[in-house]
Amino acid sequence: MSEETFEAFNLHQDLLAGIQAMGYKTPTPIQVRAIPEILANKDLIACAQTGTGKTAAYLLPLLDRISHANHDHTSTLVLVPTRELAKQIDEQIEGFAYFVPAQSIAIYGGNKGDSWDAQKKAITSGADIIVATPGRFIAHMNMGYVNLDKLEYLILDEADKMLDMGFMDDIMRIVRDLPQKRQTLLFSATMPSKIRELARRILQDPIEISLAVSKPAEGIDQRSYIVYDKQKLPLLQHLIQELDVQSMIIFTSRKSAVNDIVKAVRRMGHSAEGIMSDRTQEEREAAMQGFRNKQFKILVATDILSRGIDVDNISHIINFDVPHDAEDYVHRIGRTARASTTGTAITFISEKEQYRIKRIEQLIEKVLPKLPIPADLGEGPAYDPTARKPASAPNRNKNRHSGSDRKKKPFQPRTNNQREKDSSSPKPPVSGT
Ligand code: AMP
Repeated sequence: MSEETFEAFNLHQDLLAGIQAMGYKTPTPIQVRAIPEILANKDLIACAQTGTGKTAAYLLPLLDRISHANHDHTSTLVLVPTRELAKQIDEQIEGFAYFVPAQSIAIYGGNKGDSWDAQKKAITSGADIIVATPGRFIAHMNMGYVNLDKLEYLILDEADKMLDMGFMDDIMRIVRDLPQKRQTLLFSATMPSKIRELARRILQDPIEISLAVSKPAEGIDQRSYIVYDKQKLPLLQHLIQELDVQSMIIFTSRKSAVNDIVKAVRRMGHSAEGIMSDRTQEEREAAMQGFRNKQFKILVATDILSRGIDVDNISHIINFDVPHDAEDYVHRIGRTARASTTGTAITFISEKEQYRIKRIEQLIEKVLPKLPIPADLGEGPAYDPTARKPASAPNRNKNRHSGSDRKKKPFQPRTNNQREKDSSSPKPPVSGT
């Protein structure tokens, strides 16, 4: 591709000023490939993960159009899977819109009652860009005041995630109300057949762009440890102590584990908050804001956060468990090393999670280094590259390697004295990034 500067795209001067103010110096590969196609009015299906700059890849050309247009109607609808992503895109638009007079509104559920009226007002007054989760948007459509007759651009962002969340029917319901003549852009981290089917139904003669799919950014240092479940918290304590943690996200697949991990991390003497789908919108936002502002440095989250959330300078990701879906591994660790920085992602692999590693390694085309656990945590399980999914019946092997010489007591963080006493024991190679 020839364009390697934003100037080469021939964007509106005001938008270029916005790009400069956002600190973007050169376009990312997805931007280099997508922006000219979008400016040429093409429908687009793009396979790109978060962290690649995909949001600006569609926002910039659309804002360029909007900056030349009348501002009396909603021209652009961006459908997204989660409220966090909706808010984040809306904030990015606001960043550019400081220079380009585009109005946008994020429409999502679960917040205070008064936001419904603000959303209704923005919809009826014809905000240029609506960024919405499908369910909430349909709720507004059902009230009869949503007029999409002049809609020109439909964007499906993180389409695979939307389908995973069961939004297919909602998407089709919304699309039915849109003008046939429009430009449609579909962004997805993965391209399973159901995405192809969706694309076939709603895109017209699309250009396809595929960036190296599902490969974590080069700057991520990936490591793993094979551990028994009960060694996970002591290992976490060891790592937080050893690593130069600026900010860390600890991911777990289990909602029920979030609070326990938060409490354990606090007992270790570190500030931490948890975020998961059970929390109210306000609580989730307050936690995200506190994390962004560095009020606390450790955030514990379920996979709801693993996609699309944009917090700068996360130095470490801990996968407290191995995600069920290999794609989620890529999304989780993609929270660090964003936009060409570096970061460290460490995965704790328990015996019964070993079988999930192969699929991840196939996907990332890389073997995860498996480091020895610190000697003072006792022996870990052996790595078994042929491990298979355990039978769903109660785990027959549960106690086979339970490290039975270790007493069954709740995890207690080690005190400084203990740490000093332990400091003669050999440490695994876990120095900073
Ligand atoms: P996204 O993939 O859209 O989630 O973007 C990931 C991060 O990269 C966001 O923080 C963007 O603001 C940032 N970003 C997007 N494009 C660029 C660029 N050309 N240069 C530097 N940062 C960028």
